[in-house]
Amino acid sequence: MTEDGPHDSAEQALADAQACLDRGALDAGLAAATRVAGLATDDASRARAGWLQAQCTYRRGDYAGVLALADTLAPLLRAEGGDMLREFLRSVVFAGAEIGRFDLALPAAYELHALAEATGQPGPRSQALNAFGICFERMGDPWQGERLLREALAVAREGAPPRDLFTALNNLSAVLIGAYYLQRGSEVSAASLAALERALPLAEELVGLPGVPGDPYMCTIAEGNLGEILVHLGERDRSHALLERNHAEARRLGFVQQAQRLTCSRAEWALRHGTPDQARVLLEAMLAEAGGRPLTPMTGLRAHHALYQAHKALGDTSAALRHLETQSELLRERIVQQLRAQSEQFITRVEAEQSRREADRQRARAQSLEADARRDPLTGLGNRRAVEHQLSTLLRDAAAAGQPVTMAMLDLDRFKQINDRHGHLVGDRVLVATAQLLRECVRHGDLVARIGGEEFLAVLPDADAARAREICERIRQRIAGHDWAALAPDLTVTLSAGLASTPPYDETALATRADQALYRAKAAGRDRVETG
Ligand code: GH3
Ligand code: MG
Ligand code: MG
Repeated sequence: MTEDGPHDSAEQALADAQACLDRGALDAGLAAATRVAGLATDDASRARAGWLQAQCTYRRGDYAGVLALADTLAPLLRAEGGDMLREFLRSVVFAGAEIGRFDLALPAAYELHALAEATGQPGPRSQALNAFGICFERMGDPWQGERLLREALAVAREGAPPRDLFTALNNLSAVLIGAYYLQRGSEVSAASLAALERALPLAEELVGLPGVPGDPYMCTIAEGNLGEILVHLGERDRSHALLERNHAEARRLGFVQQAQRLTCSRAEWALRHGTPDQARVLLEAMLAEAGGRPLTPMTGLRAHHALYQAHKALGDTSAALRHLETQSELLRERIVQQLRAQSEQFITRVEAEQSRREADRQRARAQSLEADARRDPLTGLGNRRAVEHQLSTLLRDAAAAGQPVTMAMLDLDRFKQINDRHGHLVGDRVLVATAQLLRECVRHGDLVARIGGEEFLAVLPDADAARAREICERIRQRIAGHDWAALAPDLTVTLSAGLASTPPYDETALATRADQALYRAKAAGRDRVETG
């Protein structure tokens, strides 16, 4: 055997499973896919095998089986990305919504939505809207469901692949059929008939979509929908032909849920056309065949409703009552399930809103901590860290724009004496007042910081040496001329400054030259500005 041996056979088995899925041979497809899942040595083949298992399982109507695959398969498909992940998430949404596992269906719908946002394409967007539409409808809100599904259909018509148009049309017509059952009660009302009238053109379009006749699964769904609508609209012959043909096909291919749905429609046809006993026989056979396995809520409700009517028509009151009771029990279970899902959805939203607000608060706290770390608490100016944070960007931008920059080191004269004579408190007030005067003398984009005890730094973009000198001279005069006696009798304050201008656009070189200039200003008698 060559090294490629197992790989080749896995590839071959995957191709076989896909071919089985395509022609509707679900049992064979499932067996082949399961074999590869055990055989595959790489994640890509495992993902594909799992995906094929899920597809076959879904089409067989084993919704719990699809959901059971999610834990292992979803992470594999996430790693692979692409269409398989979306297709699988869709089956999780539909399977979960169908059997009331909204705890699994809704997160899958949200994931589809996130994927759709990321691509922005009509196909994925339509799929995400579809997913939410189905969840809402099955959660007991057919109005919201219809709205979302109409939107999904509109998006699908914008140029989504035919498969997505099929899904949108199918779900919308199925939801409208559901609205008919919900509203019909024991008498057929005008509102319930209106739902059917809205469903009819969609179902007609569905059967005519290109690609549907060649795909046995899509075909039984499309024709099944149309047949179901036509039964209730009283189209005797056409509905009969559609239901019989597709029921036989669904059974032959093992589409279990689809066959059960069609059985309910056939029984409703029989009731409507005066053969209640035939309806009874069909449904009892279906229930017997299902054994103890639960039907989907919708099929269960329809089956027991039809059995109630059949027994009533046949005069067997106690059997009729039994089915009526089962029907109301199923209805009650369904309502409880829906209410729980609605309340969880509500709570989840409230929690999401709370955690969003908490995240905002934390972000604001982190930002204010960061700002505090860069601020001098006494004067409110930036500190040395603020300079480190801003200076290199400021210099880089100025260099790129070809603008000059001047750095000024400002130091209060004989500050130690001020402290000694007037006390530390007055010293502090001098620092605060100096900071305020500095702020008033510079422009908005200038950087002013307190970088030491009585040392300040000003960085003046777009100021060459001459301009910077004017600015610092003005600062010096403002300080010297300030009314310091208001703080303490006989208090006077002066300041010396050392300047250095670009080029070079280099922090260290500028700081060294500015320091040297400041030293010269002090040596020359203080209260002056020197340029380095
Ligand atoms: P020079 O003109 O040479 O700069 O003399 P100077 O006295 O200003 O310089 P020196 O560096 O000798 O003294 C600085 C003084 O600043 C010493 C220190 O007590 C005082 N000082 C530093 N930080 C603070 C502060 O936050 N508040 C007050 N009140 N004083 C401070
Ligand atoms: Mg000083
Ligand atoms: Mg000093």
